[in-house]
Order: sequence, then C-alpha cells, then structure tokens
Amino acid sequence: MTPNSPAAIGFLTELRQDGGHVPAPTFAARASRATWHERTADRTLHAVLLHSGAPDEACARARGRTLVFAGELYNRDELHRLLPPGRALPGNDAALVIALFGVYDLHVFRLLNGRFAALVTESGRAVLATDHAGSVPLYVSVAPGRVLAATEAKALRNAPAGRPVPARPVRGLPGTHQVPAGTVLDIEVATGKCVPHRTWAPPLARRILPEEEAVDAVRRAVERAVRTRTAGGTPLVVLSGGIDSSTVAALAARRAARPVDTVSMGTDEADEFPQARVVARHVGSAHREITVPTTELLRRLPHTVWAAECLDPDIVEYLLPLTALYVRIGGPGRRVLTGYGADIPLGGMHRENRLPRLDTAVCHDMETFDGLNEMTPTLSAVGGHWSTHPYWDRDVLDVLVSLEAGLKHRHGQDKWVLRAAMSDVLPHEVVVRPKLGVHEGSGTSSSFSRLLADAGAPPDRVRQAKRLVVREIFDQVVVGGRHPDDVALDAVVELAASRLTGAARPVPR
Ligand code: AMP
Ligand code: MG
Repeated sequence: MTPNSPAAIGFLTELRQDGGHVPAPTFAARASRATWHERTADRTLHAVLLHSGAPDEACARARGRTLVFAGELYNRDELHRLLPPGRALPGNDAALVIALFGVYDLHVFRLLNGRFAALVTESGRAVLATDHAGSVPLYVSVAPGRVLAATEAKALRNAPAGRPVPARPVRGLPGTHQVPAGTVLDIEVATGKCVPHRTWAPPLARRILPEEEAVDAVRRAVERAVRTRTAGGTPLVVLSGGIDSSTVAALAARRAARPVDTVSMGTDEADEFPQARVVARHVGSAHREITVPTTELLRRLPHTVWAAECLDPDIVEYLLPLTALYVRIGGPGRRVLTGYGADIPLGGMHRENRLPRLDTAVCHDMETFDGLNEMTPTLSAVGGHWSTHPYWDRDVLDVLVSLEAGLKHRHGQDKWVLRAAMSDVLPHEVVVRPKLGVHEGSGTSSSFSRLLADAGAPPDRVRQAKRLVVREIFDQVVVGGRHPDDVALDAVVELAASRLTGAARPVPR
C-alpha cells in the first residue's frame, strides 16, 4: 500500500472493561500492521491496523472518545462546512469524523459519503458503523464486557463465542455477525446490549426527469465520484472496454495532468483486449494487457473466497477474474478505480425490453446486495492495492437507482442514461457496446463449469456443484483459517461433484 491509499484499509479492535488481549489475527489484506493499545479508567482498547504507512492517521481522539477508521471519505468539502467557522480543518478523515461525532453523535454516519468501516468508543459505549453500501465489510462479536470488531470475519475466528446481535450471523463462526450496510450498531459494553440504526437505504421511489436533465445529473454525479477518488497520484483503471469502466477511465483521464494507467485482463480462452485497446488509445492511457492462463485463474478461487468471504457462487465468479488480475498487477500498491456495480442500479444485466422487469430486477438487487461483499477492498488488497468503485458512490447510487426505468432502458438501449451522458466523451462504438460481464469476457464461467463437469458433476447440477465448492472453500479459508495456497482445490471439486452424483468421499484436510 502507498500513501495514495487511505491511512488504514482494515482493522481488528477489541474493547474490554477488563484487560484481555487480541489473539494474533489472520487477514487476507496485504498491508503493514500496527498494533496499538489504549487504557482509560473504564476500558481497554486494543487495535491491529492494516495501514499504508501512517497508522496514527487512522485513529483520532477527542473529548474522551476514540475513533478507529478504515477507508476514506468522498464528501470532505461538504463535511468541512459543518464544522464551526474559524476552526482549523481536520488533517485527515478520522479527525474529521470524530470532530463531527462531537456535534452529531452517531448521526454523523448519515452524513458521510465514503468507503469505510469505523469504531467509536467512549465511556461504556462502542459504536460500529459501515458506509451506505457496507463496502468495507465489518464483523462483530459481542459479549457482556467486551466487543470485538474486524473488517474480515476470519480475524474473529478465535474469538470466544459472542451473544446474538441484530445482524447477520456468519456461517461457521458462532456469535460472529456482519454489520449490515448503512448501519450503526450502538453497543452498551457492560451488557452487550446492541441497538441498530439504519443510516442509508436504497431509494424506493423513482424520479421522472426530462432526458437532458437525467443525463446531466448522471454525468455530474459520476464526474464528481471519479474526481473525489483520484485526488493525488496516478490512478489505475481496470478497463474492460465496456461503457462502465470506459466512462471511469475517460473521466479520470480528463482530470489528470498526465496519462492515467489502465489494465485489462484476459485468459488463454477469452479476452476483451481489442475493445479495451480502443478506449486506451482514445483516452491516451498507459495501457497494459495481462493474460492469465485459465489454470492459474481457477487456482485463484480459494484466494477470491478468502478475500471476499462470500458464499454466493455467482458473485465469486464475477470476482475471480478481478482477483487474478489484482494479484498479477505487481509493483507498489496502487489506487485502483473500477467500473464495478453500474449494472445493479441501472438494471444492466437485464437484456430485455420490459420496464416492469427491469425495475423488479433493480429493486431485487438493491435489496439483496448486502452481505455479498462484492465491493470489498480486500480483493485488491490481496495484491497490495486499494480499490474504489465510483458507481457505488453514495450520491451516484442515489441518482442512478432513483431514475425511472424508462431512462435506464430507452431507444432500444440498456443503461441508456449513462451511455447518453458519455456520448461526447467516448467513441460511438464504445457508447453503444453491448454488455459483457467480466465472468463472460474472461471465460471464467465456462472454465469453472468445465472444471466441475470434468470432475463428473451432472450437467444440470453444475451450479449446485459450484455452490458446494465455494462453501467448502469458505469453510477451509474463513472458518478454518487455512491459507488459500494450502487448499486442495482438485479434492474440493471432486468432492462437490461426487456429492451430486451420490458418491461422496471426505475431503483430505
Ligand atoms: P463487468 O462485469 O464487465 O461489469 O465488470 C465490472 C468491472 O470490472 C468493469 O467495469 C471493469 O472495471 C472491470 N473489468 C471487467 N472486465 C475486465 C477485464 N477484462 N480487464 C480488466 N478489468 C475488467
Ligand atoms: Mg464488461
């Protein structure tokens, strides 16, 4: 990680009324570690920070309160305006949040547009918060007298069993729960009593706008999201050549004094290299192509599950090629921008012309994204990089979700409003390029299917077999704490296939 990353990208914190200490935690994220202790009259706080060189900047103290903050803010300018006039502006995000906590208490988290997980402690109290999208996952284990929290579930795998809290339990880790997206948990440390507050919810109503206004609103929101994510340093855009990532690359390039960097991945079976090249040439980026052999790609399955702590085989399939890419980028840690997630609020995966279906899909996806960890920064952090997704900026998401479906599918085009917003910036062929998912463009879905078919999974049960593979890997690398390099993938695949043909044998451990 470099100074171009947030001060911290992850943490484990242990808050206790009596001493205690944090057992050495496992993280998938690759970053420097700092440990840190604070003792006050009524509590002890131990923290392990995954940091970029200045761990102190990820912590702030004010008026008997301490904040631990992993991630970054994208609306600092707005937040600065809320501070009393004449005061020196806080030098970092943690200091800004704690200053505003003094004014708004836990409602400060309703004000933040960011990518973060946070803990605030003050006498007898622990406040845990996720950003609107839960894009930095946050897990918690609570018992009377102690609160453990971490940005990776596996970091809590040795925690003593916690009591139930109003959050999603994690498979295989009794008493460990995931803090929902856009939520603050206000915990009384002595009793473990925990009160949840929602700080964000996806808009349910739809806005009716003239074409031009809608296009303008989208353009401004995405531009701002790219701008706030590219201050300082040359960004690296993971570029497929589709409309989503090409938009990000083009807007980043427009702002930058020097060429931005772009990178595309393909496999020996499939790539989108020619499409990405068109965009790279157009925006004048320093462009790289990385070909990952399919055997290597599939070997990254355990690393993907390890990083994303996700049990959904479809999501893992989207994340696998990107994980393989992040591991291959090499060099010093980079700030990576993606076009990830634009399809969710825009219904881009829906290739049909019916508006009710499109809005049903948008509603469903916005209701069910939470806990999938699609946006987690740990994926890129496995390769030592910090990633951020402009389409899941809080303001961009609010605009995109809330547009009426007829602005999303219009004139026979999916994601029409975004395409129209970029028609003066990108070449026409890019603006109208049909959607190709990263799992398709890299041949990931088909090679993963073949892996299972070759192991004997019945053709009509391949998806179930994928689910079993992902679950078994999860049990080994998250619950069991095994390193992904030590997962016997062939044995896991064989077991999954044989379970579906009725010939199960135990997986050797
Ligand atoms: P998609 O499923 O195509 O929407 O992919 C999501 C995001 O992943 C894109 O917006 C890109 O930022 C990135 N991505 C997809 N395919 C590639 C690729 N072949 N090479 C590099 N980045 C990619
Ligand atoms: Mg694509």
